[in-house]
Amino acid sequence: MISRIDLRGSLPGDLRSVLPRAELDVEAALDKVRPICEDVRHRGSAAVREHTGRLDGVELERVRVPVEVVHRALADLDPAVRDALEESIRRARAVHRAQRRTDVTTQVVPGGTVTERWIPVGRVGLYVPGGRAVYPSSVVMNVVPAQEAGVGSLAVTSPAQKDFGGLPHPSILAACALLGVDEVYAAGGAQAIAMFAYGTDECPRADLVTGPGNVYVAAAKRLLKGVIGIDAEAGPTEIAILADGTADPVEVAADLISQAEHDTLAAAVLVTDSVRLADEVEAEVKAQVARARHNERITEALAGRQSGIVLVDDVDDGLKVVDAYAAEHLEIQTADAAAVAARVRNAGAVFVGRYAPVSLGDYLAGSNHVLPTGGCACHSSGLSVQSFLRGVHVVEYDRDALAEATARVVALAEAEDLPAHGAALKARFDWEIPS
Ligand code: NAD
Repeated sequence: MISRIDLRGSLPGDLRSVLPRAELDVEAALDKVRPICEDVRHRGSAAVREHTGRLDGVELERVRVPVEVVHRALADLDPAVRDALEESIRRARAVHRAQRRTDVTTQVVPGGTVTERWIPVGRVGLYVPGGRAVYPSSVVMNVVPAQEAGVGSLAVTSPAQKDFGGLPHPSILAACALLGVDEVYAAGGAQAIAMFAYGTDECPRADLVTGPGNVYVAAAKRLLKGVIGIDAEAGPTEIAILADGTADPVEVAADLISQAEHDTLAAAVLVTDSVRLADEVEAEVKAQVARARHNERITEALAGRQSGIVLVDDVDDGLKVVDAYAAEHLEIQTADAAAVAARVRNAGAVFVGRYAPVSLGDYLAGSNHVLPTGGCACHSSGLSVQSFLRGVHVVEYDRDALAEATARVVALAEAEDLPAHGAALKARFDWEIPS
């Protein structure tokens, strides 16, 4: 069911090219989403409703969910789910509150300071996926860092569900209510991203859109970047597990399956120096998938070219492989897991040892689960308070400090053939300092 890549002997120079990875053709999806985005730009809410009818099979009268419906969903929420969401919010809030930034003033020279002021984005649109699975947990992961950053205006959108009268899934509405967000829209895919980017008669435009989604969501974010700010592309989920012979095959198999459950395009990759573990995990995967509720989806994900078992000579080579792969989620299941984890360079989030599985991070660890996929973890971070802040330099120099800098500014301006730059400084002293 799950293919093997044998890299024992020597690792290839271009490791990335031999590792499993989803063929997520965002470029091809661009052709599909471009007309949708243009349509929303020109026709606003009517276009959002029309594309929702075509793609989600739901005829909407309006895209905005009435506030009382959002609140009713919380009143109707299963108490066990409410309790779990409340604890998830509490833990996420603790972690994200610690990420808040304070303004820092540096005295560069006497009389000259630069202050880095952290200013929250004014209005954000938060995308919560809802195609194959619905993710109230993603409401928490989007909203908590935005709130902790101090964002003033927050709107959530999630696909309209046929089975729920064209509303987003009730658990998503309930999670919004728990977090105090009552601006919620029933829209998914590219039309939702375009709604935030251009604004419509129902939804004012946003400065930034964040959140994970499928290939159409990723394509719309790529297309509209610049019109609206975006976070990293967070596509189909990925788990990589670096394990040695000390790992438990039952737990490793369960963790691979847990992420394969998300999506047929989800990736599950085991990197190990133990052929025995590889054999036992493979047998366990078969046994566990046979009993799994979503076994068709899981089987497709595990059999896909994005999933596999990679054999290496030792944990050092395993680290090179997982760094090249740059997984969204990386589990370390080796002897002395903390020391191995400390050497990881590229991963969206690292889960250390057998008692920190990715499923904990999906819901309740306190960490954020909106993480970069597709290898983007080598240059991007997951969602955090920082995603919703802009650092603005505030420059304050007094007369003496500027006078002291003038000769050097003039020299650099001349070197760049931009003499008006130097003149702008000299003008102040020509006026103010009798020479
Ligand atoms: P989704 O909400 O991303 O997409 C559903 C929308 O896609 C629909 O509303 C529809 O409008 C649009 N769509 C469907 N078919 C289309 C087509 N042919 N053309 C244009 N638009 C179309 O929900 P999903 O599909 O379930 O995907 C969610 C994804 O998010 C999964 O891949 C999951 O793994 C991922 N995810 C990632 C993270 C992360 O942090 N990386 C977290 C949670 C979920």
